[in-house]
Amino acid sequence: MSPEQLQQQLLTWFDEHGRKDLPWQQDITPYRVWLSEVMLQQTQVTSVIAYFNRFITRFPTVQALAAADLDEVLQHWAGLGYYARARNLYKTAHIITDHGGEFPQTLTELTDLPGIGRSTAGAILSIACGQSQPILDGNVKRVFARFHAIHGWPGESKTASQLWTISTQYTPQKRNGDYTQAIMDLGATLCTRSKPKCESCPIASNCQARELGLINQLPTPKERKALPVKQLYLLLLQDDQQRILLERRPPSGIWGGLWSLPEFTDQQQLKDWCLQHGYLLNQINTFPSQRHSFSHFHLDYTPLIATTQNPINYVMEADRAVWYKTSEIKLLGLPAPIKHLLQQHHTED
Ligand code: SF4
Repeated sequence: MSPEQLQQQLLTWFDEHGRKDLPWQQDITPYRVWLSEVMLQQTQVTSVIAYFNRFITRFPTVQALAAADLDEVLQHWAGLGYYARARNLYKTAHIITDHGGEFPQTLTELTDLPGIGRSTAGAILSIACGQSQPILDGNVKRVFARFHAIHGWPGESKTASQLWTISTQYTPQKRNGDYTQAIMDLGATLCTRSKPKCESCPIASNCQARELGLINQLPTPKERKALPVKQLYLLLLQDDQQRILLERRPPSGIWGGLWSLPEFTDQQQLKDWCLQHGYLLNQINTFPSQRHSFSHFHLDYTPLIATTQNPINYVMEADRAVWYKTSEIKLLGLPAPIKHLLQQHHTED
C-alpha cells in the first residue's frame, strides 16, 4: 500500500468515525496538545478526560502553570502516577516562560526541553502547528508493528528505529494534524491491544499481521522478569488534635516532591527515630499490609498507627515536615495510596 493510499483511507475513516470532541481537540494550542500527550502516555483516554479538564481549568496557559506552586500542580496530577512527568511539565513551563512565553516550533528545540521526547514533540508540531512530523506513541507503534509484521519489542532501539522509519514514510505533507490524530485514534479505538476490531479497520486489506495470523503476537511484548518486592512500614502518627505528621519526599525518586508518611524499614528503626526526635508514643497498632505496584517493583507497605501527646515539629523548616488535619489533606499533593490510607483512617476516626 502506498503512503498516499494509506493516508487517504485513514483520513476518510477519521472524517467519518474519528473522535473529534475530546477536550484537547478543542481550542488547539501547543500547550494543550503537550499536556494531553503527557497525560495519555500511560493512561487511557477515558480516565485522562477528567484530569485534563481539571488541570486546564486551573492552569489554562503555560504561564499559569509556571506561576503556580509545585505542590498545587502535583495535587492536580495525583492519581495519574508517574509524578516525574508533572515535575517535568512544571520545569518546562518555567523554561518556556523565561524565554518569552512562546512555545518552540522546531523538533530540536522541543526535544531539548525536560520531558518532551521525539513523539510528543512530533504530536505538538503536527497537531498544533500543522507541520509534517511523524509520531510514534504506544498506539502508533502497535498499528505499524502489526501492519508491517515487525517483530521485536518496540522499546528496543532496533525495533523502534524500524518503526520510526515506517511512521516517517507514511507521514503526509498535507492535513498532517488530522493524520496524526487519525493514526493515534486507529490504535486507540480499533487496533487495540486485545481483540482489535479488524473488520472495521480502514487499512485491514494490507495488514500483514492479519494476513499471517500474528495479531495476538504483535507487537512483541517485553520479556517479563519477576518484579522485586520492597517492604516498608509507614507511620501514621497522630496528635491529640487529630493532626497527622507528614514529610515531604526528596525531589527525585518515587513520589518525588510529594507529601507522604515517615517510612521505616523495620519497627526498630521506627523506635529509634521516635527516640531521636523526642516523640512519646502511646501505643502502636499494626494494620494489614497493602501492595502498590510501580513499573519496576512492588511496594508492600504496613501502616503503623500511633498517637503522641507531644507533637513537636522536629524540623524548623516547615516545608519538610508538617502536622496536617486529615480533613484538610486534599489541599496537598499526596501519592494516591497515601491519600487512600489517610482517607480510610479519617473515616474510621
Ligand atoms: S487490520 Fe487489525 S491488526 Fe491490522 S492494523 Fe487494522 S486493526 Fe490493527
